[in-house]
Amino acid sequence: MIKVFEDFDYMRVGQLQSLLEANDIRTFLKNQFGFGGTGELPFVETVPQLYVLNDDDAPKARKLLEAELEADEERETWTCEKCGTVIDGRFTDCWNCAEGEEQ
Ligand SMILES: [Zn+2]
Repeated sequence: MIKVFEDFDYMRVGQLQSLLEANDIRTFLKNQFGFGGTGELPFVETVPQLYVLNDDDAPKARKLLEAELEADEERETWTCEKCGTVIDGRFTDCWNCAEGEEQ
């Protein structure tokens, strides 16, 4: 069993687990419920961790994760062509230009 990913965002880890499973990679999720009722455990112990059960799958898994995370980064922010403001990927409009147009 090899760890291929870990993140405090357990939703994210879950998504990536689904991605690997969809590609016929058997996975194991550790600390899945890291944020609920962990009690006295040190915070660092509760980071959700994604493992592949078959060590041979690790290279394939890492490749899939890499591609996915790269795409993720592209989604995260974008730069407005008009004013150069860096916009969070959740927004489709530039808040800076939009404000300017209203004035
Ligand atoms: Zn703009």
